[in-house]
Amino acid sequence: VCVVGGGGSGLAAAIAAVQAGASVIVLEKCGITGGSTNVSEGALNAVDPERQEPQGIEDSIPTFYETTMKGGHNTNNPELVHFLTDNALDSVHWLESLGVEFKDEIGSATGSLGQRSHYPATPSGNTYIRSFQQFIDDNADAIMLLNNMQAKELILDDAGAVVGVKALYDGEQEVTVNCGAVVIATGGFGGNVEYRQKVNTGVWKEVVLDDSIGCTNIKPCAQGEGMVLAENAGAELICLSDIQLHPCGTPGTGLMEDIRTSGRNRIFVNTDGKRFVNEGAERDVLCKNIFAQPDGTYWIVVNTLRYPDPDEPDANGATINNMLALGHIVAGDTVEALAGEMGVDAANLQASIDAYNAVVEGGTDEFGFVADNTADAAMTEGPWYACRKVPTVHHTMGGIRVNVESEACNADGEPIPGLYAAGECTGGIHGENRLGGNAIADCMTFGRNAGTNAAKYALA
Ligand SMILES: Cc1cc2nc3c(=O)[nH]c(=O)nc-3n(C[C@H](O)[C@H](O)[C@H](O)COP(=O)(O)OP(=O)(O)OC[C@H]3O[C@@H](n4cnc5c(N)ncnc54)[C@H](O)[C@@H]3O)c2cc1C
Repeated sequence: VCVVGGGGSGLAAAIAAVQAGASVIVLEKCGITGGSTNVSEGALNAVDPERQEPQGIEDSIPTFYETTMKGGHNTNNPELVHFLTDNALDSVHWLESLGVEFKDEIGSATGSLGQRSHYPATPSGNTYIRSFQQFIDDNADAIMLLNNMQAKELILDDAGAVVGVKALYDGEQEVTVNCGAVVIATGGFGGNVEYRQKVNTGVWKEVVLDDSIGCTNIKPCAQGEGMVLAENAGAELICLSDIQLHPCGTPGTGLMEDIRTSGRNRIFVNTDGKRFVNEGAERDVLCKNIFAQPDGTYWIVVNTLRYPDPDEPDANGATINNMLALGHIVAGDTVEALAGEMGVDAANLQASIDAYNAVVEGGTDEFGFVADNTADAAMTEGPWYACRKVPTVHHTMGGIRVNVESEACNADGEPIPGLYAAGECTGGIHGENRLGGNAIADCMTFGRNAGTNAAKYALA
């Protein structure tokens, strides 16, 4: 089996294919392995009573399914969503079997619409890539990962079955891989500015997604190349206009840095110090409301609840003192002092915090924020911290049409023999708006599925 793309879904597919008895070669375009998965927060949604119940979190697979469909405006492919929500916990257990440790505490990624996000015990999605790399090192007789190897074309036999890949090593040396099946796992196209704007006819059609909007992805990885390879082999590309913007962009770069919007106990205020949205809303709702604020920007405000120790690394490995030293955030011992650093009206900021706290204490607010009594507490004590944010291109939900076997399909829904696809390069799972934490669940669940089925096909 040849896997194109060495990110989360590609490596999950590669390892599952090895476990199903195949020998595997992974082609990775970049000099570093891991793609977007490597730099992600690593939040993985799954219904997991063993972890959720001790925290008092009520959840179920039907709730996970319905929430995913609601978040996607009911435009998701129901069969794929059922497969995802039914099998995400198996992915958690499979990752654990490869050495990934998850925190016991379940959290909520930005726009997850619920408390079911699993976080690795060591910072970020790099945890997954390190465990995968360990498997590759330990199974060198069965799996080979080649960096700086860019797939350029799929090889088809006379019957239209995919039987190999043509690639370019280091930009110049032509390489041919002959194989029994190919898994495309090349990630999204968020870093391809021209292409993303060309297909931007959906949720964000009023916004020009040119260079004035940043991107959270590693741009050379996220060019959508695998989609073109699959299309040239006969696969259909679907839902391309379903592009996700994320509210956690750093002004100027769009990278996702510093204080994150994920988690609880944070408020969003505009440059007047006023709240303007339910912080727990879907990402498209959040970003639309941010664009409506002065300068299309806002501040995330947190306090000691989020960062009790300024030297304790957060889920992404950064400490408050790191962020302060870099000048990326402002701080104050009191709300008034913080407001001074932010340059916002102190009375407005205090009123915003009070309104949020009132919901946590059982009230309601004008934005429909719903407190989660398993995680939210009143924000009352300093030190306080704030960080400026803007919307940024984050995820592309459209891509290669796949069925529930992870086979790439043509416009009639018929599988292309020998061609499988998984992860952000596929379309239809997330609908018009993906839930936070569902991409990693998708990559691991459908990556495993693609690898297992590709191995079965190749070995048959
Ligand atoms: C900063 C950030 C934070 C995120 N946080 C979360 C989170 O907490 N939870 C969540 O669910 N989602 C999160 N996401 C989204 C999620 O990480 C991605 O959707 C997911 O990791 C994509 O995985 P993938 O395997 O499909 O693609 P990737 O991980 O991007 O891997 C694709 C790989 O294919 C390679 N490639 C591309 N073209 C070729 C080619 N022609 N030949 C060979 N190789 C090629 C790329 O170089 C890349 O390494 C985050 C994303 C970012 C950027």
